[in-house]
Amino acid sequence: MKSGLLDKGFNLQELMDSSPAIISVIDTDAWEVQYQNQSGQALLGQIDGKTCYTNIPKQPTNCAFCRATEALRTGKTTSAEVPMPDGQWLLVQWAPIRSKDNVLSVVETITDVTETKKREEEYHRLKDRFEHLASIDPMTGLLNRRGWMDKAERLCRRAAHDKAAVGVLIVDVDHFKHVNDTWGHVTGDQVLQAVSASLLDQFRPCDVVGRWGGEEFIVLLPPPMQDLAAVAERVRQRLASTSIQPPGLSDRVPVTISLGGTIATPSCGETRELEALIRIADQRLYTAKENGRNRICLT
Ligand code: GH3
Ligand code: MG
Ligand code: MG
Repeated sequence: MKSGLLDKGFNLQELMDSSPAIISVIDTDAWEVQYQNQSGQALLGQIDGKTCYTNIPKQPTNCAFCRATEALRTGKTTSAEVPMPDGQWLLVQWAPIRSKDNVLSVVETITDVTETKKREEEYHRLKDRFEHLASIDPMTGLLNRRGWMDKAERLCRRAAHDKAAVGVLIVDVDHFKHVNDTWGHVTGDQVLQAVSASLLDQFRPCDVVGRWGGEEFIVLLPPPMQDLAAVAERVRQRLASTSIQPPGLSDRVPVTISLGGTIATPSCGETRELEALIRIADQRLYTAKENGRNRICLT
């Protein structure tokens, strides 16, 4: 193939110099540059016959990212993506090559991959952002059902590993339909936002508060487990004793909540186990409603 190229009248030197990539041949015994193409000279200056790291700032010895000897040892191409201080990214590749008199050297090819790298970073940034948005309830800013399940499951699996107990509480606003019917949906939304803020404020930062749907909220309390009844009762009382003042409304809106909950030590912490805890908490919420609302039920 190589001789074919020369046979066809192409000049190898011209061919190498036409490449936008930086191509050098390096003798790895002395790290001496035996050949560099024009792109190499443009970026690194004339380093033919000098050590390959001569013009790399603050590089008194072989570059830390260098995998040239690995290419020689394995006979395979190696590569590294190298960030530059000015934000540029270079893809550096090394391949073993033998001269006519059988001396082993390495061909180093350097390509600017900054644009590809930027697109990759942008993709990951957007992906993270979308994933975040997909897990948040826009009205309250709390985790939505999906976001809550993901996080709660992670904590349940950790609790199972540590053989520690977790608590699950479901919180439902009492007679919320009446709030909507009396003050309208906008006020209803504001009340739900105020309830969310109050819940976030009252639980520990490690507790996972989510919007389960409509006027229902859910909380996972990871270890160390507190007195769940005391926590639930305190939250209930706080909301019952402080009516909500939605912005622009002269009335204060009285709000009470009912809570159902359970404590358990998960054995594996997987979805079905968490779902079973939620079902129990939900049944107890139903009992709290049946018993007259504005109360907790944990047994
Ligand atoms: P209970 O004490 O039995 O829970 O009575 P409730 O009226 O709270 O329960 P019900 O399930 O009858 O009604 C819930 C109401 O919550 C109905 C629904 O329109 C309203 N709702 C659900 N989501 C939203 C929301 O995002 N904003 C507003 N404003 N209302 C909502
Ligand atoms: Mg309700
Ligand atoms: Mg409800």
